[in-house]
Amino acid sequence: NNLLTIKDLYASVEEKQILKGLDLEVKPGEVHAIMGPNGAGKSTMGYVLSGREGYTVDSGSVVLGGEDLLDMETEERARAGLFLAFQYPVEIPGVSNLEFLKASVDAQREARGEEAISSADFLKEAKAACKKVDLPISFLKRGVNEGFSGGEKKRNELMQMLLLQPKLCILDETDSGLDIDALQVVAEGVNSQRSSDRSFIVVTHYQRLLDYIKPDFVHVLSNGKIVKSGDASLAQELEAQGYAWLQTEPTEDE
Ligand code: ADP
Ligand code: MG
Ligand code: MG
Repeated sequence: NNLLTIKDLYASVEEKQILKGLDLEVKPGEVHAIMGPNGAGKSTMGYVLSGREGYTVDSGSVVLGGEDLLDMETEERARAGLFLAFQYPVEIPGVSNLEFLKASVDAQREARGEEAISSADFLKEAKAACKKVDLPISFLKRGVNEGFSGGEKKRNELMQMLLLQPKLCILDETDSGLDIDALQVVAEGVNSQRSSDRSFIVVTHYQRLLDYIKPDFVHVLSNGKIVKSGDASLAQELEAQGYAWLQTEPTEDE
């Protein structure tokens, strides 16, 4: 039984087809790493799954927890348990982090038919989450991501993850990369939240994040589809060999 099933997914941005027959299956509790050359479509995959504006699905299907993900609005996808981290560092000045988090959690509980959590109980949970990710509790009062450093944004997203308890987390390490401290924060956060009912897709350009997060599967995404899959040792192989062996199929603009 898969948590996520992506079948023959084709998707475009600005009339340019980026995903070209993507297939991926993720079972509950699994950690999948997606690697691949710059421009392969790794980030596009995350955006398409999250329903980001401007990304058009041309064909194919995506099922999350038995439901048609592509049929859902962005907010519904989040409520269905999808969480996309790291390339959504939106700043929302004027809305406190605590308010934002509570609203997200409330919406999710409502969607699940659960009762709303009291403000006092939520504050307790949020403070505990701050402690876990090593953020001072003063961050709860600040505007969402307003003036946060790179590392603080990462910690804040991990805190969000802790509170939202998503079923599927997609982490996209930006090309600019994380410094070693932020990398360890992310890895510890992920490792502490790995469980039999939470899956991760970890997108990374380089192998180093996978020194700290041991994936069950590693996939190479190239030119919009997965061209190779293996276990964690594939990441080491790729680190040693690079992606030059993929150059047999050049993209149109190269
Ligand atoms: P990766 O994350 O693997 O480096 P991306 O998914 O960011 O790759 O990008 C894949 C391709 O899509 C690249 O050629 C990139 O230039 C293109 N692309 C991404 N976003 C846009 C956009 N908003 N408009 C036009 N092209 C885009
Ligand atoms: Mg890129
Ligand atoms: Mg990217």
